[in-house]
Amino acid sequence: MKNLRYYILFLMSIWLFTGAARLQAKPATRSLETIVIDPGHGGPDIGAKGLSGLQEKNLCLELARQLALLLRQQLGLRVILTRDGDYALEQYERTAIANHNKADLFLSLHFNADFAAQQRGMEIYVLEPRSADNEDIAQVEGGILWDKAQLKSLKQSHRLAQAIYQQTIGSAYVKNIGIYSAPLLVLKGAAMPAVLLELAFITNQQEEEELWAKEYNATMAEALYRGILSYKRRFVDNPDQSK
Ligand SMILES: [Zn+2]
Repeated sequence: MKNLRYYILFLMSIWLFTGAARLQAKPATRSLETIVIDPGHGGPDIGAKGLSGLQEKNLCLELARQLALLLRQQLGLRVILTRDGDYALEQYERTAIANHNKADLFLSLHFNADFAAQQRGMEIYVLEPRSADNEDIAQVEGGILWDKAQLKSLKQSHRLAQAIYQQTIGSAYVKNIGIYSAPLLVLKGAAMPAVLLELAFITNQQEEEELWAKEYNATMAEALYRGILSYKRRFVDNPDQSK
């Protein structure tokens, strides 16, 4: 009987030791290899619509494609679009694509609308942390409750938001810009740094005109690319700052 007790203790210590070794083997810093870009809306869900007929879903997809191209060419990153065509996707499916592909960053692209036509500018959103406690919008996906997945990455999400803010603020098409927290379902289940961008107001006449401009996509994709690059240099390549 005594021998059996020693034997169990022996097994337990091996189990604890290998467990600790596994934890230590995990790299302390996060890498940046895969980015998932999520063009908002799609299919029958057109999103916001401008007076001149511009549709949010199309603007999101065009910008996502351009940004993906830049990230692949300049940084050699693996970039996945949650949709690369005009079809509908549920919010949880968008996050699930990022989680399944073990993405290191998740960016959801949108364009804004407001009843007040004078509203303009860009808005960067991170998840409002208290909203993660709201069980009624919990999403169970593949048996895993992704409900609170974003909480662990919230600090990095704020850093990503800051980096995009700093690299976009002087951009030709950005009149004003702010960072906000909101209970956004699409960010909630993301198990990596995640932001949602409302790039401009389709309902603002001046901004809608600018969205027609040929240079708009190239300019904004370049600004977002610089934001991601700045985040990478400060918080991924430089381990001292990533804590
Ligand atoms: Zn939208």
